[in-house]
Amino acid sequence: MKEILQDLSLPEVEALVAGMGEPKFRAGQLYRGLMRGARISDISELSKAFKAKLLEKFEDEPVRIAQVLTASDGTEKYLFALADGNIVEGVLMRYKYGNTQCVSTQVGCRMNCAFCASGLGGLVRDLTAGEILSQVLVVNARLGGTIDKRAVTNVVLMGSGEPLDNYDNTVRFLRSVTAPGGICISARNISLSTCGLVPRMHELAEEGIPLNLTVSLHSPSDEERARIMPVAKAYKIADILAACDHYFEKTGRRYIFEYSLIAGENDGKAHAEQLVSLLRGRPCHVNVIRLNEVKERGLQGVSEKDAYRFVGMLERGGLSATLRRTIGADIGGACGQLRAGYLKGASG
Ligand code: SAH
Repeated sequence: MKEILQDLSLPEVEALVAGMGEPKFRAGQLYRGLMRGARISDISELSKAFKAKLLEKFEDEPVRIAQVLTASDGTEKYLFALADGNIVEGVLMRYKYGNTQCVSTQVGCRMNCAFCASGLGGLVRDLTAGEILSQVLVVNARLGGTIDKRAVTNVVLMGSGEPLDNYDNTVRFLRSVTAPGGICISARNISLSTCGLVPRMHELAEEGIPLNLTVSLHSPSDEERARIMPVAKAYKIADILAACDHYFEKTGRRYIFEYSLIAGENDGKAHAEQLVSLLRGRPCHVNVIRLNEVKERGLQGVSEKDAYRFVGMLERGGLSATLRRTIGADIGGACGQLRAGYLKGASG
């Protein structure tokens, strides 16, 4: 694979262009072209000779939309092909206030949570910052968005991969997607979800990026959590909460816990009560999710009624909690499901 030009910041593009002996305004043209989601070869402002020189070193199309599935509710599921042939997926959710895109940070994942499709084949490789960014750029372009008038208004790092397991590239992506002169999405409109890599959560707090921090909790006890999330053997819930508090101190932003209900595993009255005593009084919100059943994983979700009952128990206990609407379920909405299906189809 060649290098990825979208990995570079505007000052880095300027240095590159200067080093190639081109005038400075070419850097601005090149950067704007990339940020509007164009391939290098499609940026009409640039000369053929200059583009040919760039293409010796850089990928023309680091992320290509290979497939789009549209659900009955308007949710779009994307399969992105990377330059080396790897596939990652993304989702676009349409809301009244704007469009939220879910991006992937790794090909596969090494966390191997018991309910998740992304970890089925382990980690294949990290995405570069430019590959994460390009997912947003190509979808924004596809929807008719520009740099000045974005079609993608919100980003969530909840596709395949553990963002904090690919820390440097993820932070570089966060800087580039929020950078003035680029697609410039406000950090307040970005949510990063982690399974709870405590040292990296502290590091992220120190970066001072005011994004929405989301932690996949899924259980109020360390022992039970470790049954469904192997990472819980390394990091305790108390340490995760301390890292969340650190984040709150630095950014003033409340944090969010994800809680996917799995029948017979984490959905009991005792779980709700334990969750209440764990989280009451904290500046946080709980997003309750109904498990998206992944066949290979063999775990079962709960009914909508039972999910509302669980949320009701949290609310009566004084927590701020909502049941997340299940969207795009008819197109394989859960992490990694679509890629897993695609890979299976491809291998016959
Ligand atoms: N690695 C990150 C982000 C990826 S997943 C993390 O662990 O947070 C985004 C969210 O979807 C996480 O809360 C994850 O636990 C949850 N999730 C994964 N598979 C799911 C499934 N099949 N049903 C419901 N939620 C799922």
